[in-house]
Amino acid sequence: MRTIAPYTPIQYVIGSVEFCGININVDERVLIPRPETEVLVEAAVQLTGLCSLKVGEIKILDLCTGSGCVAIALAERLTKGPTNCRIIASDISPDAIEVARRNAIRNGLYNHIEFINRDLFDGIDDKFDIVVSNPPYIAKYEFPTLQEEVLREPRIALDGGEDGLDYYRRIISKLPDNLKRGGYALLEIGFGQRCAVSAIVDESGYFKVNCIKKDFNGIDRVIIIEWIN
Ligand code: GLN
Repeated sequence: MRTIAPYTPIQYVIGSVEFCGININVDERVLIPRPETEVLVEAAVQLTGLCSLKVGEIKILDLCTGSGCVAIALAERLTKGPTNCRIIASDISPDAIEVARRNAIRNGLYNHIEFINRDLFDGIDDKFDIVVSNPPYIAKYEFPTLQEEVLREPRIALDGGEDGLDYYRRIISKLPDNLKRGGYALLEIGFGQRCAVSAIVDESGYFKVNCIKKDFNGIDRVIIIEWIN
């Protein structure tokens, strides 16, 4: 009989989770997709509608893809409609890329997504219409307060450094090179991070906050960033 370690999240035991109506396989190598991340997908789908009015093919980059849930949900939505899109999904973890790739294959969307093993934008020269990410955003001081089940998820997928904001600083500092003029970046944020992340955007000198989307609990969850001009 298979033994299950104490506090193993139920999703790892079952081996899959529903995300945006899509079945995503998960195991200890990847973060378990959360329902609030569906807000990120919905917001990106809306913006591709806007972008596709301006350009032909929409190029989307999903950073820190993990299980691939965001990239796969976007591919599922966008390839059904009139939008012509190309999606690149990256993650620093080769294990996560392996899980994400399999998830795309299982859902018949492998042809629409290119998976690459990278640390954020490293070695990516392309410019994108839309950059999406649910980066690690848990601060160091929050770890002792996390549920045991959350601590079973990969630390690398949760740990946002001393104040939880490391990835926002890194992503926003590289955006000028990888976001097309007129494009948008959509970043999931943690509870209470709205002001701090908005300040990082403002301090960039290149970008401003377009809007903030709340999740179904009324918590600020997705920050949409655009060029100042
Ligand atoms: N949403 C996860 C949690 O709060 C964190 C995921 C992340 O760091 N992006 O448990």
